[in-house]
Amino acid sequence: MLDLLNFFYEKECPFAEECFDTYFQSLPKKLDVEQIKENGYCTKMAEALLKQIPERFQWKTEEDLIEKESYLYLLANKPEKALRVRESVVHRKAIKPFLIGMILAIGLVIFTQPNRVLSFYEGAAIEQLSPFYAITLYYMLLGGLASAHQESQIIHKSVQGGNRLLAEKIAKTLGDRLHLNSPLTAVSKREDGSYSLAFQNKQKEIADILILAIPCSVYTDIAFETTVLPIERLEAIKNVQYGTNAKILIPFLKNDLKRTGLLNNRCISFFDPNHQVLILFYIGEASKFSKDTIAETYDKDRSMLEIGYEDFCTNLNPVLAKDESFGTYEGPVGYSWPKDPYAKGSYSYIAPGQEAILTAVQEERGEVVKTLFAPIDQKIYFAGEHASILSKVPGTMEAACESGERVARMIFNTLQTYIPEQVFRQ
Ligand SMILES: Cc1cc2nc3c(=O)[nH]c(=O)nc-3n(C[C@H](O)[C@H](O)[C@H](O)COP(=O)(O)OP(=O)(O)OC[C@H]3O[C@@H](n4cnc5c(N)ncnc54)[C@H](O)[C@@H]3O)c2cc1C
Repeated sequence: MLDLLNFFYEKECPFAEECFDTYFQSLPKKLDVEQIKENGYCTKMAEALLKQIPERFQWKTEEDLIEKESYLYLLANKPEKALRVRESVVHRKAIKPFLIGMILAIGLVIFTQPNRVLSFYEGAAIEQLSPFYAITLYYMLLGGLASAHQESQIIHKSVQGGNRLLAEKIAKTLGDRLHLNSPLTAVSKREDGSYSLAFQNKQKEIADILILAIPCSVYTDIAFETTVLPIERLEAIKNVQYGTNAKILIPFLKNDLKRTGLLNNRCISFFDPNHQVLILFYIGEASKFSKDTIAETYDKDRSMLEIGYEDFCTNLNPVLAKDESFGTYEGPVGYSWPKDPYAKGSYSYIAPGQEAILTAVQEERGEVVKTLFAPIDQKIYFAGEHASILSKVPGTMEAACESGERVARMIFNTLQTYIPEQVFRQ
C-alpha cells in the first residue's frame, strides 16, 4: 500500500492523497491499514501472473514489445519503470460508451486493492486471467479503469430509458420475422447447402445464411453437425471462458450517504451515475444465486454495507429479476448471469494460454475478423462481444455492436456481389 502511494506521489498524481483520505475518512469504522499492507496490492497478482509469463503471447510489433517490457516491470512490482517505458509510446486513443458508474467506486477502492478490482472488472479471479490483462491493471494503477479509459478519457454514456430500447427498436423493423423465446437446439446442413435449424419448441426453419450471435458458453447445448462447424473450431469456441458476475441493485434510501465504493471478497459496491441506486457487483461463487438463495447472498454482505454506509437501511430482502425486457421493483432486485441458461456467464475473457487463439485476426473480404470467428463458406457468421475485433474494449456492448455491424456489412456485400441486382433489391 505504501509503495503504491509513493508511486502516485512520485508521479504527482493530483488526486492520490485526496482519494486515499476520502476512502478512509468515509468509513465510520476505520480500516486496519496494517492489515491491508500485509495483503499487498499487486504482489499477489504479480506472483500469479509471473507463473504464466507471456512467452506464449505473440509479441510482434514494436509497440507490442514496448508493452511487453512495461508489463514485465509492472509484474516485477516496478510501476515507475513501467510508466517510463509506456511514456515513450503514443497511446492510441479510444472512446467508449461507458460502464454504468463503476468508476465512482474504482476511483476510491483502487488505492486499496487494484488486483481485486481487476478481477471484478475482467470477471474472473486473477489466477484465471491471462497476463494480457496486466494492461488493465496498469491503467488502473494510473487512475483509469482499463486501456480504453485512461485518466482523462473516461466518458460515461448510457441509453436513456434503458439498453433494452436498442433491441426493441431493431425488433420493430423485423416485425413478425422475429421469433422470441425459441432456443436453437440443433443445426444440420442440407444437400442444397442450406441449413436446417431445430428449436426447443419443435419448430424447424431453413436458412441460407446463419448468424450465430449466441455466447460461446451455450454452444455445448446445441447439436452442430460437423459439416456445419468443424470439430476443432467448435471445441475452441466451447473453450472460451466466461466471467462470473451478478448484480443486486438497492434503492438509494438516504440522501446524505457517503458515495463510497466498498469491496470484500465477494462483491464491490458502487452507485449509479444518478446516485439513486446502490449496485452490488458480485464475482465468483457468490454470483451464482437463484430466486431461493438471493436473500441469503445479500445477507452475507449486509454487514459490509452497514459498516460502510452508516444508517443505510439494508433490511429489505432482494428478489430475483423476472425474465422480461423492462420491470419495476420497489425494493432490492438482482440477477445472476452465470445462472442464466442462455448466458452461462457475464462476458468472455482470455484465460492463460488462450492469448494466441483468442487474439489472432485475419482479413476476410476486406474486413478484419478474429480467426476463431471467421465466417465459414460465406454462409455462417459469428457475432457477439466475443467475436469483436475491438481488443481495447473486450466484453462490452460496444464490442458486441461492432461485431454485429461488421457481419451485416459482410453479408450485404456478399449478397450484392453474387445476386443479380434485381433480385437483391427485392
Ligand atoms: C454484470 C454485467 C455487467 C456488465 N457491464 C457492462 C458495462 O458496464 N458496459 C458494457 O458495455 N458492457 C457490460 N456488460 C457486457 C455486455 O452486457 C455484453 O458484452 C453484451 O451484452 C454482449 O452482447 P452479445 O450480443 O454478445 O450477447 P448477449 O447480449 O448475451 O446476447 C446473446 C443472445 O443469445 C441468446 N441465446 C442464448 N442461447 C440461445 C439459443 N440456444 N438459441 C437462441 N438464442 C440464444 C440469449 O438469450 C441472448 O439474447 C456487462 C455484462 C454483465 C453480465
